Amino acid sequence: MIADTDIAIIGAGVAGLAAAATLRAAGHPCVVIEAAARIGGRAYTTTGPETAGHWFDHGATWLHAAERNPLTTIARDNGVGIIESDKIRRWRLHVGNRPADAAETAAYHAAWETFEATIRPRASQEPDIAFANAMALMRDNPWAATIELWEAAQIAAADPARFSLRDWLVNDLEGTNLILEGGIGAFVATHLGAAAGPVELNTPATAIDWRDGIRIETPRGTIRARAAIVTVSTGVLAHLPFTPGLPATHQDALANLPMGLLTKIALPALTQDRLGLPDTMSLRRQAIAGEPSMSIFAWPYGAPFLQSFIGGPTAWALAKAGPGATEDFVRGQIRYLLGADADRALGPALITGWATDPWHRGSYAYATTGHAGARAILGTPIAEGNLIFAGEAVCTDGLAGTVGGAYLSGAAAARRLMSGRAA
Ligand SMILES: Cc1cc2nc3c(=O)[nH]c(=O)nc-3n(C[C@H](O)[C@H](O)[C@H](O)COP(=O)(O)OP(=O)(O)OC[C@H]3O[C@@H](n4cnc5c(N)ncnc54)[C@H](O)[C@@H]3O)c2cc1C
Repeated sequence: MIADTDIAIIGAGVAGLAAAATLRAAGHPCVVIEAAARIGGRAYTTTGPETAGHWFDHGATWLHAAERNPLTTIARDNGVGIIESDKIRRWRLHVGNRPADAAETAAYHAAWETFEATIRPRASQEPDIAFANAMALMRDNPWAATIELWEAAQIAAADPARFSLRDWLVNDLEGTNLILEGGIGAFVATHLGAAAGPVELNTPATAIDWRDGIRIETPRGTIRARAAIVTVSTGVLAHLPFTPGLPATHQDALANLPMGLLTKIALPALTQDRLGLPDTMSLRRQAIAGEPSMSIFAWPYGAPFLQSFIGGPTAWALAKAGPGATEDFVRGQIRYLLGADADRALGPALITGWATDPWHRGSYAYATTGHAGARAILGTPIAEGNLIFAGEAVCTDGLAGTVGGAYLSGAAAARRLMSGRAA
């Protein structure tokens, strides 16, 4: 049995922890329930043989847009080691299975200039269109598919054919990318966890009744609260029963914030030569429209494991194809790109499981074409201002999809409920 409270927080990811820290710092009563056996949600670090004993972030990896990311200050204030990723990360471009030559590399850089000159301005114009449709403006450019893959399927984890170009623009993560020593998940669990205070673990909300105050059903009994902050992903929210049902505005917004998928695969080096690749090197291959693709990040920050990223529709298709499909694809790509023997130099794989994790059901949300406003709509309080959805999906500060955005959203929801502002 969990005691009734003034404000209940559902989910102890970054948004829920930020909300709890904000309330508890002000001495405001709250209860935090978390479905999983750990806090942190999509900020999750492990250390194991697949990453050769080094820390590995299953979810959030970089502090993007570090200049305006609230977690940058918290990390600095707590003396967390910071790696300036942009200064040491190297890049290699492939065409087919060979490194690009000088002319191809120049054409690739020129394609990004064309993208900036044509697609970015289009994003502020009406009507909103799908990212893939915008890329049709560069139809004849041999690097258009590569840019589309990188910006939509990998960074936004989105389906380019459904991804709102406006949403891409608003949440474009310009700025510095930082790595936290030990991993973002470990940082969140330690530092945000300490500020947030106690969390009721293994306590999923199974239903929410908002007719007269808030009643949250859990396997450990019903929690009654004046108000609640719900921080679960949109993938989870779509399966959470509410009584009465959510307003049509919120249902529509939820339907237009689907979960994208980014799958990360780690493979440890079995040999000393490390496939002849330097540390901290990203290998990006020219994408062919309609063909599945991925990128490789070799030996990140000196750790002896190879990390691959698969995003968007390809990631979902492989996850749905069942165990083994993702690993087979990655090993096949590695053999193609780095030589037939390359994957024999790599040990057993760690494959992140966000697609099948019942408490997340994907990686992070994107807005569909014409619905860039869905984040703000879903974030509008209901139940006379007492029921608020928070988290990365509803961030409207230009950091949606990130830990920084989740933090801002959770803290803002807590401040709003404390100040008693109506919807
Ligand atoms: C592969 C991957 C790579 C990423 N890379 C980056 C990156 O480099 N940089 C970056 O900033 N961000 C990145 N992100 C995104 C970032 O991790 C998320 O935006 C952020 O962690 C979301 O926080 P949140 O609090 O909104 O949601 P969550 O972390 O999902 O927190 C919600 C919590 O609710 C819990 N929960 C679910 N259902 C229930 C229920 N019924 N009852 C109670 N609790 C429940 C969940 O277990 C979870 O702990 C990445 C994510 C993934 C998956």
